[in-house]
Amino acid sequence: MFTSRSLSPAFYYLFFSGEREQQQRFFKELHFISIAILTFGLACWLVTFSLTLPRASLDHAQAALGVTGMVLGLVLTKYAKSLQAIIVSGTISVLFIAFSFRVLMLGTDDPAFWVLPLGVMITLTTAPIFSGIAYYLGVSLCVWAILGLGQFPVHAGQADQHWPVLAVTISVIIGLALNIYFLVLRIHNYRAQRDLATMAYKDGLTGLNNRRMFTQGARALQRTARTPAYFLMIDIDDFKQINDVYGHDVGDEVLKKIADVISELSGEHLCGRLGGEEFAVIYLGEKNAACAFAAQLVDSVEAAFVPERKVSVSIGMAELIKEADLSHSYRRADESLYQAKKSGKNRYVLNAA
Ligand code: GH3
Ligand code: MG
Ligand code: MG
Repeated sequence: MFTSRSLSPAFYYLFFSGEREQQQRFFKELHFISIAILTFGLACWLVTFSLTLPRASLDHAQAALGVTGMVLGLVLTKYAKSLQAIIVSGTISVLFIAFSFRVLMLGTDDPAFWVLPLGVMITLTTAPIFSGIAYYLGVSLCVWAILGLGQFPVHAGQADQHWPVLAVTISVIIGLALNIYFLVLRIHNYRAQRDLATMAYKDGLTGLNNRRMFTQGARALQRTARTPAYFLMIDIDDFKQINDVYGHDVGDEVLKKIADVISELSGEHLCGRLGGEEFAVIYLGEKNAACAFAAQLVDSVEAAFVPERKVSVSIGMAELIKEADLSHSYRRADESLYQAKKSGKNRYVLNAA
């Protein structure tokens, strides 16, 4: 499937695909509205059908085919699970709606009269449900073809024969404008929500989970982890001095670099910035592996700054107690951190109590 990055912006809007998460969001937004619009189309047809009965000129076999197609499209839309599926089922539905109305139209005394109003109504009301300009354009042109085939109200010699062509062109343009407008609104809405979520859950400087996200994740792990888990509280040593000697900007760079080291070494393990120059990791694994991880973290931070300047971290560790509140493990890790600082920094201490 296409991805938004591999396509130029024009293609992005023409065959909208977006990221997986974005597609799922759009699907949820469009699912209900598609069912509502397609049901409305079917209901309009049934009302019109019942009002035009009895009519000998109506082709009942084709009417039955039309209803079957509309119902099939509606059922497919109802059970659709993805944005692509909605585009396919929506196309089937809309084309059968156009076909069914054509069947009714052909049963009237002046079919050509109905081509324009029906075409305008069908193409405009279905504009919101197609995510992808090309899909909508294709469907609306097919709708005009189905309704207008052999019936288009243009006759040689007629003085105002440009009017129907103009009406179709304008309605296609308005339909396209509506379709683009809905698509752009949905894209903006999605991006705004995603950016807000990023701001709410990510640390702006380092890109790590912020305290809120880390705490949420740690609580979830407390409930679900099947292995022992360790809380590591990581604090940069003498960070105030780094700020004082080299300036705040260099301090920020040090924070970012240490965040990178932590995130790279942590891999799948949950990590985050608790605030200031404090970070944390929840390590899932046995005690020895957790201690080896902490030792590696201490060494890697030191190595990351050689030969520019000396920067180190101290780590306080405590087992994540599943039965107690998270603040309990937090406090015990903090006690170990205090011990690590007191015994010379640049090391880890495990709270054995
Ligand atoms: P210790 O080894 O005992 O941990 O000493 P420390 O200097 O690291 O600890 P202290 O708590 O005295 O100082 C922390 C400093 O971190 C003070 C604060 O100005 C700085 N700081 C907190 N947040 C930021 C930040 O986002 N950027 C920068 N550059 N500095 C920050
Ligand atoms: Mg601190
Ligand atoms: Mg510190």
